[in-house]
Amino acid sequence: MQDHIIGHEKNIKILKKILLGGNLQHAYLFYGPDHIGKSLIAFKFAQAILCPKNEDRFKNICSICKNVRNNNYPDFFYLPNPYPSKLKIETVRTLRKSLGLKSYQASHQVVLIENMENFTIEAANAFLKILEEPHKGVIFIITTSNLNSLPSTIISRCQVINFQPPPISLIERALIKRGLEKEKAGILSQISSGLPGLAIRFTEKPEIFSSYKELFKKFIDILSYSDFKKLLFVHDLINKEQSDDFLKIITIALRNFLLIKIKSCFAASIIEEKLLKKIFKKLSIKQILQLLEQTKKIQFLLAKTNINKKMALEILLLNFPRI
Ligand SMILES: [Zn+2]
Repeated sequence: MQDHIIGHEKNIKILKKILLGGNLQHAYLFYGPDHIGKSLIAFKFAQAILCPKNEDRFKNICSICKNVRNNNYPDFFYLPNPYPSKLKIETVRTLRKSLGLKSYQASHQVVLIENMENFTIEAANAFLKILEEPHKGVIFIITTSNLNSLPSTIISRCQVINFQPPPISLIERALIKRGLEKEKAGILSQISSGLPGLAIRFTEKPEIFSSYKELFKKFIDILSYSDFKKLLFVHDLINKEQSDDFLKIITIALRNFLLIKIKSCFAASIIEEKLLKKIFKKLSIKQILQLLEQTKKIQFLLAKTNINKKMALEILLLNFPRI
């Protein structure tokens, strides 16, 4: 992971103020889409809390900061995403026991939990118990891309920090700084729909960008399919076990549509302007937002319940107007 933050000045200011004031709360919840930079800033925040050098804040250059970054520090507990499977109750119980032990060096212990929406309901409930009986000096930093999937009892115990996409121009500049040509930086920053982490992944792994482009184009094709053909496609998708990736692509494509529609910036897509205009004749901003919400809901239900994946995808695709 690259350590240069792109955007989020306002949130960094808030966090620095918290650190400076010394009035740390028990739990922070970073909320925003995947790849927006929540984890990177969560790490920086954890490092700053544990760093013994006050002047070092958010630079994170001392050896303790480095050890935290490498998840090699006894007072730092990291539950990364993706988990081997859905996060189970046993992991939370182990965490609870470890937190009971005295902190090793620092006055604080920091627990960083990524994508808490992937907790099972039992694990989330067990975690709530830890939050309800705070150990002194333990700070939780939790990230999620789906706030609605967390129990409100957890949310209410956290200071919620909302992450908004940074301006595309900022991502473009950052990519140029990393050595990309201006034209390529322009395309990648636009297509990543304001998600710096995604833009960086595209530059580091061109094969990810290729497969993304392919799925994106496939999704656009599907918009012109008949209902019957859409159903056949879903059948195929399930057989190939690509449904999770495809749901992510739908989310990114819809975000891309929103960006283009709001800013009327047709260069912001890998899709031809003519085709985009055709799509926008059938798809209003309101509909795009509704479809985004629906896609998120399906992702949540697939992660948390035993709903029928095939049926959920069929209903979603049938809700898209035929282009
Ligand atoms: Zn440090």
